Amino acid sequence: MVFTSVKSGRTSENVLEQLKQAIVSREFPPGSKLPSERELTAAFQVSRVVIREAIRALELTGFVTIRQGPLGGAYIRELGFERLVESYADLFMVGRLSAADLVQVRLHIQPEVARLAALNADEDSKAELVEALAYEQVRTTDHSEWVKRNQATDYALLKMCGNQLYRAIMEPLLELFKELVLVVKPPWTVIHNPAEHKAIVEAVLAGDAEAAVRAMETHLDNLGDHLINLEKAYRRAKGLAAPGR
Ligand SMILES: [Zn+2]
Repeated sequence: MVFTSVKSGRTSENVLEQLKQAIVSREFPPGSKLPSERELTAAFQVSRVVIREAIRALELTGFVTIRQGPLGGAYIRELGFERLVESYADLFMVGRLSAADLVQVRLHIQPEVARLAALNADEDSKAELVEALAYEQVRTTDHSEWVKRNQATDYALLKMCGNQLYRAIMEPLLELFKELVLVVKPPWTVIHNPAEHKAIVEAVLAGDAEAAVRAMETHLDNLGDHLINLEKAYRRAKGLAAPGR
C-alpha cells in the first residue's frame, strides 16, 4: 500500500491528498479500483468516517465513481470537463455569468474552433463529423433527445479542433445552453436552422478554413439574440434574479 498513516492534524485533508496523489500519478489508473474502505482504514490508521469523507470528495470532483454490488467500490475515472459544467451552471444561477457573456465568448471561440477543425481534419474525425450531422438530421419527437442531437455537431467540431482549453470552455457552455433549452422548451426551429450546421460541416470537410469561419459566424449571428431571450424566460421560470454586473 502506497499510503502512510495519518496520526494527527488535518486528518481528512491529508487522506484526500494522498489518495489524489495516488490517482494522478497513475498508481491507480482509470478503470482500476481503490482499495476497500477496510483496507484504507487500516493503511491510514483513521476511522471509516474519514475514509468515506475523502472518497465522497473524490466522487464530487470527478476522480472516482462509486459502483454498488459484489464488484462495487470506488473506481477511478478519466477526468473530463464534466466537473466544470456544474461550476458554470452555479455561476449562471447566481447571476455571475450571463447569456450575454456566453454569446460574446462564443463569437471568438467557435469560429476559431471551426477554422482549426478544417485545418486538423483527418479521415477519422471527418467520419465522426459526418456521423454527428447525420444523427442531428434524424427526426425525433423527444425534446431532450432533440436537443442532444442538435449539439452533436458542435461537440464533434470541438473534439476536432484539438485545443483542450477551447473544449474546457465550450463544453460547459453547451451544457448550460442545453439546460436553458430543456427548461424553456422553445420550438427548435426558432433557435436552430439545420442548414447552418450543414454549411459548417461541408466547409470543414472540404478543408476550407475561411469558409468554415464564415459559416460559423453566420450561425452564431442568428443564435445570439435567441440566447438572450432564452435566458430571460429561463430566469423567470426558475425564479432567478437578472444577472448582476
Ligand atoms: Zn451550433
